[in-house]
Amino acid sequence: MGLRPVLLNRRMAGIASTSLALALGVATVGLLPAATTTASPAAAAVTADEVCEDPTGTLARAKGGGAAGHDPNQLTLAQVHQREAEFADILQERAKRVGQRTLTAQAAAASVTIPVVVHVIRRDTTRAGGNIPDSMIQSQINVLNQSFSGATGGAATAFAFQLQSINRVTNSSWYPIRQGSSAERQMKTQLRQGNKATLNIYLGALSNNLLGWATFPQRNLNVMDGVVVLSESLPGGTATNYNQGDTGTHEVGHWLNLYHTFQGGCSGSGDQVGDTPAEASPASGCPTGRDTCSSSGLDPITNFMDYSYDGCMYQFTSGQATRMINAWNSYRAA
Ligand SMILES: [Zn+2]
Repeated sequence: MGLRPVLLNRRMAGIASTSLALALGVATVGLLPAATTTASPAAAAVTADEVCEDPTGTLARAKGGGAAGHDPNQLTLAQVHQREAEFADILQERAKRVGQRTLTAQAAAASVTIPVVVHVIRRDTTRAGGNIPDSMIQSQINVLNQSFSGATGGAATAFAFQLQSINRVTNSSWYPIRQGSSAERQMKTQLRQGNKATLNIYLGALSNNLLGWATFPQRNLNVMDGVVVLSESLPGGTATNYNQGDTGTHEVGHWLNLYHTFQGGCSGSGDQVGDTPAEASPASGCPTGRDTCSSSGLDPITNFMDYSYDGCMYQFTSGQATRMINAWNSYRAA
């Protein structure tokens, strides 16, 4: 249920006038993070979300980051190089074992259904206290399945998602969920389920107006592994311009080893994916004809790994799909 209406809505919203989006954005003023902008709240409200990254490999997406995409913990070039070297090593080890041709064929044919455990972190049992209904969670799973199957217009990836359980936890000391806090660690230590192939999604109110954050895959299971998503960013939520479930898609993209489309800016190998045109900085809202690098191709503002409004982003590329399945087989597959 809801697949077609959601798609229609997403498509239509994708070409919706920016002015409408901006006007609506003002209503989200209360959610803006003071820490990420020096602009006035009203000005900040018209800018889009933002992603952060810290050295532990955590990425965060937030609203109101400002056009400069200020990010105190942005992934550095050195961090990318380190991660890519490890990724290449693992791929090479696997190629040695089974042969490159087999590896490529396996990746192309792969179909992976990821079990999803959703933890609803709430202050109390009211909606305002974080207690969103099951229907929103199911809609989020539907959005993940549409996004990763290519049904919204992008490349088909190998991935599908199956909701395994919903775990509702009332704990005011974990609410809001604060990125990088000891409370976050305690929460995940107590709640995380499954192995490296299990997607744990933590939902709740988030600190600093963040929309979400995620961890990259790692060689060994880390208890912090998973994605944290603002509960009101789920379909039907109250996060204006960010309530179609694409924060979930974006964060799961990171969890499957994707960088932002603007990683590295215009130079070097950027996001390590060949078919996402380089982009100097995060896009905000839903800009038309944005082209921030002299290399070929307009900015990939419709890509799930940019910072555009939910209504604007609808696709992964085939290069990203390949990177994700290679990462899955390297890091997460049993
Ligand atoms: Zn991100």
